[in-house]
Amino acid sequence: MRERGYAGRIVLVGEEDHPPYERPPLSKDFLVSGKDPAGTYLFTIEKLHRLDIDVRRASTAVGIDRSGHELLLRSGEKIPYDRLLLATGARPRRLSNPGADLKGIHYLRTIEDSVRIRQSLGAAKHLLVVGGGWIGLEVAAAAIALGVGVTLVEAGDQLCGRSLPKATAAYFQELHARRGVDVRLNAKLTALEGNDTVERAIFADGHSVQTAIVVVGVGVEPNVELAAGCGLSVDNGIVVDETTRTSDPYIFAAGDVASHPVDRVGLRHRLETWHNAQNQGIAAAKAMLDEDSRYRELPWFWSDQFDLNFQLLGIPRRADDIYVKGNCDVGRFVQFFVAGERINAVAAFNSPREVREAKRMMLANSPIDKTALTNLPKVQ
Ligand code: NAP
Repeated sequence: MRERGYAGRIVLVGEEDHPPYERPPLSKDFLVSGKDPAGTYLFTIEKLHRLDIDVRRASTAVGIDRSGHELLLRSGEKIPYDRLLLATGARPRRLSNPGADLKGIHYLRTIEDSVRIRQSLGAAKHLLVVGGGWIGLEVAAAAIALGVGVTLVEAGDQLCGRSLPKATAAYFQELHARRGVDVRLNAKLTALEGNDTVERAIFADGHSVQTAIVVVGVGVEPNVELAAGCGLSVDNGIVVDETTRTSDPYIFAAGDVASHPVDRVGLRHRLETWHNAQNQGIAAAKAMLDEDSRYRELPWFWSDQFDLNFQLLGIPRRADDIYVKGNCDVGRFVQFFVAGERINAVAAFNSPREVREAKRMMLANSPIDKTALTNLPKVQ
């Protein structure tokens, strides 16, 4: 908003004690290297002050008075607003199994979580990861890099079931198995046992895994309480329109917490990605300044695991044909997800250039060169 010339008052309220920071490194290089957390900061406090932004760290917002246009803080302070942006993100889903509150069981969302996990891994021989999504896979790869043995259990019949089709997830399973991770699918956790600290995990089929550390990555829940508490429309996230406006014209939402219409695929979606947090945030800034701000980005994210850089652009759908270009054996290939004459999504393994090329075609909505693509091997 400052870059766009807004000179009025901006107050930034955050529950954490840090200035705003990047979360992607917390499950990747920051977890392995143990560098100074300040390296993850988006802005220093000094920079925020220079931008004349009134930063309230370690402050929790507990209510919104929509008719009075005020935000209520736990401290009792009321902050008036003309426009209010809710970028409250999400929190890790917690396990509810017996023993889930034993010591040694970790979740990963904040800098402090990442530091705690790194400290535990330093003295560990074995890690149990519960959940075969992005947190689970990235933490498993980090633990292997630190010389710690890993068992990864996933309740479903494939890894990353919410974001990847089976044909894409299968490569991650093979990669992790090759690097020494003991990957177990269809593993339904029933209990965690131990005296004070976790010692073993018990599964529905009767088998157990001995471990002193567990990292849980079983998805997130959007932080919608502020929005729901003041009667905004909420449906698996705060409901916003294309411009990031909620059901109250003076209140906006962006990032992991916002459920927004996804252009091109006709769906409503909450995108839990860095790219969405950044670009939807920019759209919200424009909207709050009454500029045209339709948010029409192609969903995109990346993950780094071992020596793999993975990128997914667009949303693969069940009916898509999958064509493969490149060499799976050397880990450098691309899967194109195609319906009719259009590419819906691209999954790129160590192939960033292909993503840029596909993006141009997808944005132009241009029909694919059928012969070039359909001459490639097909997966399904
Ligand atoms: P996630 O990607 O949604 O994956 C959670 C996985 O855990 C799912 O496969 C889920 O299967 C499985 N699961 C659920 N309950 C389970 C149980 N009781 N036992 C074993 N498996 C279980 O979520 P996440 O890995 O926790 O990541 C949290 C957030 O951080 C997400 O928003 C993610 O996108 C984000 N993140 C992104 C990146 C990146 O972009 N590179 C990296 C790290 C984290 P079902 O689907 O069958 O429930």
